[in-house]
Amino acid sequence: MGGLVQNQIIERLQYSRNLVVFTGAGVSAESGIPTFREAQTGLWERFEPGELATPAAFRRDPALVWGWYEWRRLQVLRARPNPAHIAIAELAKRAPKLSVITQNVDDLHERAGSTEVIHLHGSLHEPRCFACGRAYAGVVTDRTDQPGSERLEPPRCERCNGRVRPGVVWFGETLPEQSMRAALAAARDCDCLLSIGTSGVVMPAARIPEVALENGAAVIHINVQPVEVSAPGEFSVVGRAGELLPALLQQAFPTS
Ligand SMILES: [Zn+2]
Repeated sequence: MGGLVQNQIIERLQYSRNLVVFTGAGVSAESGIPTFREAQTGLWERFEPGELATPAAFRRDPALVWGWYEWRRLQVLRARPNPAHIAIAELAKRAPKLSVITQNVDDLHERAGSTEVIHLHGSLHEPRCFACGRAYAGVVTDRTDQPGSERLEPPRCERCNGRVRPGVVWFGETLPEQSMRAALAAARDCDCLLSIGTSGVVMPAARIPEVALENGAAVIHINVQPVEVSAPGEFSVVGRAGELLPALLQQAFPTS
């Protein structure tokens, strides 16, 4: 990071009255959580994403789809928040106002101490009935629980006996309306948005930084690949979030 750009970024953080942190797969990856496609190894290798992550796939073979997501959920339960998650939770204590919006379906932000995280793509930890939508609270969270094969029969809804589905957004589904609305409002109202570990090309989530820019906020991209910037208030910093964020936090809001 060049000195001039670094100073501008630190000033933006220091003077921000309303900060938004927008995170993507890169932040979870630093905790060892593979992306959807990277996770398709071993016994999952032979399946196409469309066989695992669509409503049609769940109708066709609920035990296969539920088994896949339980396997993913167990990977998350074994992972820990990394320094990026922790720096974001710490930043919330030092900045006047901070909102977290994530495309990730894990709970690592919450476990690092962030509250009221907006999950644009749903959550592995909030299963619900496929038929009636009722939230299902009965999923075992025992960390030693290891399904022996890829298939696992989903539990049944306590209200209608329908099958319980993962609480994530599948291909072909729209993003949760309430979350998207809250995210767009936060992006519109903020004066600085940190976009972390996301290439920013997948719509409609890519709208979040755009909306912030259109409304005059600074947008700071932190990503292992450079992100193309198009406006004077937009910055791209290349590197690992787990290294860059704690350093920025300390420089913008030193504790000693
Ligand atoms: Zn139900």
